[in-house]
Amino acid sequence: MDAGKQNEVKIESEISKELASMPLTVKCPTCRTEVSWEGNPHRPFCSERCRLIDLGAWAGGKYRVPGEKLGEESEGSKKENNDDDEEPA
Ligand SMILES: [Zn+2]
Repeated sequence: MDAGKQNEVKIESEISKELASMPLTVKCPTCRTEVSWEGNPHRPFCSERCRLIDLGAWAGGKYRVPGEKLGEESEGSKKENNDDDEEPA
């Protein structure tokens, strides 16, 4: 029983060692430049410019998910019901 527990601990320390030796960098989603994650105020982007470009792409609908529409019909019938209630008979 003890042997299994020891093995688990060993694996965990191996993983943390690997993470520590890896440089913490991310690829800027806009220009694909590798930038360091730590101490980067614009992460995951390399600069404010790239951040704004990405925001603009979202606003322009470049990344819009197709085929997603809210049910307008059901909402319309609900409103009609409310109007009926308010009208004094
Ligand atoms: Zn960039």
